[in-house]
Amino acid sequence: MKLQAKSTIQGVPHQKISTEAIKPEALLVVQTLRDGGYEAYLVGGCVRDLIIGRTPKDWDVTTNATPEQIIPLFEKTFYENSFGTVGVVLDTEVIEVTPYRIESEYKDGRRPESVSFSTKIEDDLKRRDFTMNALAYCPISDSLIDLFDGIKDIKDKTVRAVGDAEQRFREDGLRVLRAVRFAAELGFTINKETEKALYDSRETLAKIALERIRDEFSKIIMSDSPMVSIFMCQKLDILKYILPELEEGLDTEQNQAHSYTVFEHLLRSLQCAADKKYPFEVRLAALLHDIGKPESRRFSKEKGDYTFYGHEVIGARMSKKILERFNFPRKTIELIVNYVRWHMFFSDTEQITLSAVRRMIANVGRENIWNLMNLRICDRVGTGRPKENPYRLRKYTAMIEQVLMDPISVGMLKIDGKHLMDMLHVEPGPKIGFILSAILEQVIEDPSKNELPKLEEMARKMNEMDIQELKTLAEKGKKTKEAKEKEALEAILKKHHVS
Ligand code: ATP
Ligand code: MG
Repeated sequence: MKLQAKSTIQGVPHQKISTEAIKPEALLVVQTLRDGGYEAYLVGGCVRDLIIGRTPKDWDVTTNATPEQIIPLFEKTFYENSFGTVGVVLDTEVIEVTPYRIESEYKDGRRPESVSFSTKIEDDLKRRDFTMNALAYCPISDSLIDLFDGIKDIKDKTVRAVGDAEQRFREDGLRVLRAVRFAAELGFTINKETEKALYDSRETLAKIALERIRDEFSKIIMSDSPMVSIFMCQKLDILKYILPELEEGLDTEQNQAHSYTVFEHLLRSLQCAADKKYPFEVRLAALLHDIGKPESRRFSKEKGDYTFYGHEVIGARMSKKILERFNFPRKTIELIVNYVRWHMFFSDTEQITLSAVRRMIANVGRENIWNLMNLRICDRVGTGRPKENPYRLRKYTAMIEQVLMDPISVGMLKIDGKHLMDMLHVEPGPKIGFILSAILEQVIEDPSKNELPKLEEMARKMNEMDIQELKTLAEKGKKTKEAKEKEALEAILKKHHVS
């Protein structure tokens, strides 16, 4: 027998929520649960985002059905956790369906002692962290459940804890950071009382696993306003639980070239990376690039100023330690550490030659060299000198393009020395090189000739030629190649208006 505990909770009048904004799979899951005789709501972040007009990242459904009742309603599900969440698989999409939950007392500041299921949506909403995240919406009956004035807080752009704020932060220390994260992502302000409670219970964050902290922190980094958020973490005295190394730069005055402390410079560099929508690794590299400065600062009597020699080496080492502590993926760590290690490259204007650029590309990888230059841009903006000398910037761009340019060489040919030797029964020796160079010349003149049968035919003819004649042809080929390369380089310089 199916139990239908009709909720006594009334929906509130609300703005129109278009069904089109809702993922069809999520809609189908709610519909299926209701057809099965159960209550079902979209809940949490997705409802908040629908109200705000953002695109929800994931779709969560809550219901009065138990896992045993949910599972038979769907063809493909998985259920392997202690929280009652059933993953419903539809096509490539997974919609998480969780029974209404009651959480028992929290004792360790991290998670409840036990979790039990409830038949009342009220119970499920009151365990949620913030009022904006405690909304439930049934798209079938178009009813919105808002027991804690979440709609009003969304309108007022306020982050407010559900219920007794201090108790909520003490239950689960991660909420301390989530409050800051939501403020950063949504451009909201933390309600005064909630903020005070957050401050008073901030040490609960110390009990949270660094992986959970990392995930919230990463979202802050990817938000539009990471600078104010990290500044806020510092003001609220929680930065010490996240990135204590950053605080070492708080009072680190720099030399005359800088108007900001190391701390402020790093935050400003990060903000520039966010403004430019640079990828995660560049943002984090911007935040960490001078992390080694406090440790490397020396006063030079000779210069009458501070120096920071070797700060990029110390910084790279520190960054590695920080990123490993957070257990970031190996590839991410490697990239960021590399950017920090080499971030001085484009500021060393005297040192930049084509061969230096070539070495740097070998250091950071072809696909990352632009990111290294972008990091340089952030570094500069973060210093308060917004514009790189435009000529210099164009010159660097041209140099990178020159180095990355595919070389004009026999490597472009769809035939190689080994193939020639096999085909012509020729021993290794200069002849094969001559033939390749001579073929290259023909292909440069007419790229459509770069097809195996045509090349083979050419090679056969050349093989019959007198060796001196062939050599002359090869030399002509080399000259053409050099001329072509010069032409390509000049095109790049011209494109960037540099010489
Ligand atoms: P996002 O858009 O980043 O996914 P979200 O609000 O959906 O934000 P999730 O971490 O996906 O956040 O969690 C989904 C919902 O679960 C939240 O909206 C909130 O209702 C609830 N929730 C998540 N974490 C907590 C927590 N630590 N304490 C209380 N409720 C939480
Ligand atoms: Mg979510």
